Amino acid sequence: MNRRYAVIGNPVQHSRSPWLHTYFARQTQRPIVYAAYQPAGSFADCASAFFAGGGCGLNITLPYKTDALAFADSASAYARQVAAANVLKRQADGSIRAYNTDGSGFLRDLQRLGATLSDKTILLLGAGGAAQAVAHAINRQQPARLSIYNRTPERAQQLAQQCGGSAIAIADIADERPAEIIINATSASHKQPLSYAPALFRQTQLAYDLSYGTAAQHFLRQAASAGVVQCVDGSGMLAWQAALSFALWEGVLPSVAEAIPHLQPH
Ligand code: NAP
Repeated sequence: MNRRYAVIGNPVQHSRSPWLHTYFARQTQRPIVYAAYQPAGSFADCASAFFAGGGCGLNITLPYKTDALAFADSASAYARQVAAANVLKRQADGSIRAYNTDGSGFLRDLQRLGATLSDKTILLLGAGGAAQAVAHAINRQQPARLSIYNRTPERAQQLAQQCGGSAIAIADIADERPAEIIINATSASHKQPLSYAPALFRQTQLAYDLSYGTAAQHFLRQAASAGVVQCVDGSGMLAWQAALSFALWEGVLPSVAEAIPHLQPH
């Protein structure tokens, strides 16, 4: 019988998770089906109904990652540290365990790109859920410096305290804190893309936008025209966080390299 998995989010119709997991299932010859749900009521009601109906695992996307952590009976140390979960798994004893694969997905993608974080100066733009996952993952790689800028400075300060970075004002970055790697983890580009002074990128070798497809293009074009050689969107991170979810559920890590080009808009 097919094992059932799904993603829960709101909105969820744009999610590429059903395509990715179906692709991984075919590649690894695992008998799974994967659906997408937008809860009519609470996250907990939707997730309870899914697991009560025999579901084996869930991916969770905006805005339910903290609800997912609260829903679980237990959680990995990293999900607790980040205070958010993007994966739930029903265990052999029926209990639900939470994980977060966003940070490791990001690190795996940097590995794919041949980029390292240790001893690098890094600027993280944003302090939301994805930025939190990435900041904790970066901290483990012992960068030379992690600076965090966020529209709401208090959130940047809080995140910096948690993960050994320092919060910074945008006006100070180009002058005082040029960065070798700049990571855009804001969601601004989904509505009104932000513009940065070219000087921001003056020592930058890698510009990485966690968004993917058209949402990433504005930031990456600015970086490229300021001279940054490696400008990359988050489609690799998306594929990796899904592959790591699949591995937690099915015990086999699929290959992501061929999936990534399919995530780009045609
Ligand atoms: P989130 O928790 O809602 O955080 C949004 C962040 O963007 C906050 O730091 C927010 O600043 C900032 N922001 C939003 N609008 C802004 C504006 N107009 N000007 C300046 N800053 C603004 O969202 P999230 O989950 O972190 O997602 C962030 C991005 O990462 C999204 O584009 C998402 O698609 C992407 N993502 C990608 C992956 C992947 O696998 N590739 C995984 C997760 C997320 P304030 O704190 O001031 O509100």
